[in-house]
Amino acid sequence: MARYTDSQCRLCRRESLKLFLKGDRCYSDKCAIDRRPYVPGQHGKSRREFSEYGNQLREKQKVKRIYGVLERQFRNYFKKAERKKGITGENLLIFLERRLDSVIYRLGFANSRNEARQLLGHSHFLVNDKKVNVPSYLIKPGDVIRLRDKSKNISRISEAVDSVARRGIPQWLELDKTNLRGTVKGLPSREDLTMPIQEQLIVELYSK
Ligand code: SF4
Repeated sequence: MARYTDSQCRLCRRESLKLFLKGDRCYSDKCAIDRRPYVPGQHGKSRREFSEYGNQLREKQKVKRIYGVLERQFRNYFKKAERKKGITGENLLIFLERRLDSVIYRLGFANSRNEARQLLGHSHFLVNDKKVNVPSYLIKPGDVIRLRDKSKNISRISEAVDSVARRGIPQWLELDKTNLRGTVKGLPSREDLTMPIQEQLIVELYSK
């Protein structure tokens, strides 16, 4: 599957927003957006005005980058969100938030969604006692996500769990730190998503 391999920090600088793609580094004074708060490229320091279309496009790119999803998959989430009852933009964000890689990051087993995808690829997690290594797996209320016994001694996972208090665990998830196990108490709501996202702009973009 195609995937983005260029600098992650460049993506944050492009969106002029901390997207928290690199774990610990994002909370340190090495964060690129703190050190170089302008968009990358030759004309990065000049002031830019976006058209309406430009704003919509940037918003879509931002959300894709936060969740590490490529265009085709993102569009599929949008189609699913449209078919579902409720507000399309909110449905879209909730689908993205329910991805297993995102949930593993939210529970604190990984410092970033990117790291969560790597850990999943190495089959370190069980969902309801079954091995799942698909980042796009959609969790549902009542699901229990836990580390496999053989993976419990991996230091980067325990270090990530130790530092999760820094960003907090959303109320729709519950972490049992002792047993390295997370429970999905319910589905996330729009209020649980704290990144500054204007999902309506994405809906407008795809509705053209
Ligand atoms: Fe973005 Fe993190 Fe890089 Fe800062 S360190 S620019 S928040 S990925």
